[in-house]
Amino acid sequence: MGTQWTRRAWLRAMVATTAFGAAWWVGARGPRAAPAQAGGSAPARSLDWRPLSLPHEEWKKLLSARAYTVLFEEGTERPFTSALNDEKRAGTYVCAACSLPLFTSEAKFDSGTGWPSFYQPIEGRLGTSTDFKLILPRTEYHCARCGGHQGHVFDDGPKPTGLRYCNNGVALEFVPEGETLPPLRQIP
Ligand SMILES: [Zn+2]
Repeated sequence: MGTQWTRRAWLRAMVATTAFGAAWWVGARGPRAAPAQAGGSAPARSLDWRPLSLPHEEWKKLLSARAYTVLFEEGTERPFTSALNDEKRAGTYVCAACSLPLFTSEAKFDSGTGWPSFYQPIEGRLGTSTDFKLILPRTEYHCARCGGHQGHVFDDGPKPTGLRYCNNGVALEFVPEGETLPPLRQIP
């Protein structure tokens, strides 16, 4: 028993020394500061948020008819109808209902489908479910904060994830890099 603990203590000391050495090495030889992340990622990712539960009738009053149909009746906008399809600037895509940042421009790509497409969301910002609207099962995804439907995810996307998040443009709002993210919508 005693020997085991001694060995663990020794291992801990070794790990600590190695970590310190590595940190010193990076500090001495590596770049002084990490390059700034594009797309306003840092504030978008570090946000502190809680779920927002609002009855559909309330959302209907707050949103445009088109946005409400997509977000809370799981509608699909016609392809090539969203200006966000051609949006190529660096920035953040937030939920059009509750303003939670869902995607950053780094993950956007031109899928040619007519819907804004991303290969990954900001971690932890989407929930998923399976829908059978087109008979074959599809993975529906929605904003993790307000539950608003965003789109469907398919496994024919580009590297590094191989996923294609096919999003309704009307369910998102784009915030260009350098502009302040809108405050998260609160229950009135
Ligand atoms: Zn939302």
